[in-house]
Amino acid sequence: MRWFLIAGSLLFFSAVKAQEDKPFLCGTENLEEIKQVMLKNREEFKNFQFQRGAISYIPVKIFLVAYNDGSGQMPVLNALRMLCQLNTAYADMELQFYIKEIKTLNNSTITETPRSSGGTLQMQLNKDPKAVNIFITHKILDGVAGYYIGPAGSNNDFIVIQKDYMGDVRVAAHEVGHYLSLPHTFHGWDSEAWDPVKHGNPVQKFAPDGITINEYADSSNCGPKNVGDGFCDTPADYNFGANTCSYSLKAMDPNGKLVSPQTNNMMNYFFGCSKYLFTPQQKAAILSSYNSTSRRDIRGTSPSEVTPINQAVKLLKPADKSATASADSVLLEWEAVAGAASYLVQYDIVPTFEVFVQTFITKETKQKITGLVLNRTYYWRVIPFNDYSTCYPDPPRFSFKAGALTSVRDIPEVKSLSIYPNPVANQQLLNVYLDNHTGFSGSISIFDLNGRLVLQVPDQKFTAGASSKGLDISGLRPGVYAFVLSSRGGLASRRLTVF
Ligand SMILES: [Zn+2]
Repeated sequence: MRWFLIAGSLLFFSAVKAQEDKPFLCGTENLEEIKQVMLKNREEFKNFQFQRGAISYIPVKIFLVAYNDGSGQMPVLNALRMLCQLNTAYADMELQFYIKEIKTLNNSTITETPRSSGGTLQMQLNKDPKAVNIFITHKILDGVAGYYIGPAGSNNDFIVIQKDYMGDVRVAAHEVGHYLSLPHTFHGWDSEAWDPVKHGNPVQKFAPDGITINEYADSSNCGPKNVGDGFCDTPADYNFGANTCSYSLKAMDPNGKLVSPQTNNMMNYFFGCSKYLFTPQQKAAILSSYNSTSRRDIRGTSPSEVTPINQAVKLLKPADKSATASADSVLLEWEAVAGAASYLVQYDIVPTFEVFVQTFITKETKQKITGLVLNRTYYWRVIPFNDYSTCYPDPPRFSFKAGALTSVRDIPEVKSLSIYPNPVANQQLLNVYLDNHTGFSGSISIFDLNGRLVLQVPDQKFTAGASSKGLDISGLRPGVYAFVLSSRGGLASRRLTVF
């Protein structure tokens, strides 16, 4: 696996919530062609017993497509979640998808207009012929969550998913269903949802595509190639696209019998079901497609690490709710997790990691973060993963207060003291940050390494609470000094480097 990206770059968490507000629409076209491939595979594998008991690994290349100028980066965490959902959906078929690469691609044409000829061409040029290619884009068309463009083994043969649907429980699984030859359960109704005024109730013999015969409510006419979706174990469905998982329409089949669609099938448009499934015949079609000649390029490889990760990371340092010595640089450390090849590290100023989250990916069990705001509380978490295991339980979260360990016990009035920047250029102002229990009078002195007083600011008033003062140090030559704050009650010192 090659990680192309991202350490240090700022990633805004684009909420996976958006899809709850929008109905799911699939933009896959040429569904009759997909169904014909499924029927051909079925014929080819009709006497074939698929071997069970061994996992087949399928390489996936995920393109997170930002704009040309690098803006609009997408969170890798959502790509991990997408792969997790995909693997959950296909686990009982013993198909496991693994990360061949997660790549950040800067390409405005793809991310803004994937369906244009230019966008399609750009994806053809970027795709990996030996992987399932999934492009995550900022836009598709209004309401379109994703699509697959085939046919299998062609220059196209890739999946596009709009970024808000990346972590959805079934969008990737649905599109990979098309990739592996599945039509919609409402085949023939792909471009229009049932409308009693337009299509009648009972419905006519033929679906709106003019060639598909509507399946009966009791499935008694299923079997012939041009009836419904070609599966006898998916009940009649005339595209009752809905925002919810419940079906309450009174649609009737051509014989006047009420139909009862399977709302939680992966290949329909019912949204918001708690669990989606493929039927046994759909699963058989998926396995036939996977084993077919046109899918040979995605067979035969496996990830370098196949240990599932079941364990959360144990965070070590800084300890939870502790204070760190410095805000300039904090080293986060955690315990190694069995099977983890990489760790996704995040920190933010809110415990939900949704405001200003920064993300790093490392193979080590530590990560240095720098440039924090003094005395601000930061939250951090670490998610272990490998190419194959990307599901994570709710990760533990620690917090720390940056630089707050500078409390000065020997001046009773002072809660904390720090100086910044440090090292400091001798043309810069040195900022002195103080947080005091009560106000007091005192002085600031700077001594060189020989103990010689080189700067003194006497008779200063320091107020209660947080305050800062700028100190002109332009007279100091480069070197190491002792910065000393003194009051009647005591003194506190800091090492200061001038360059
Ligand atoms: Zn679809």
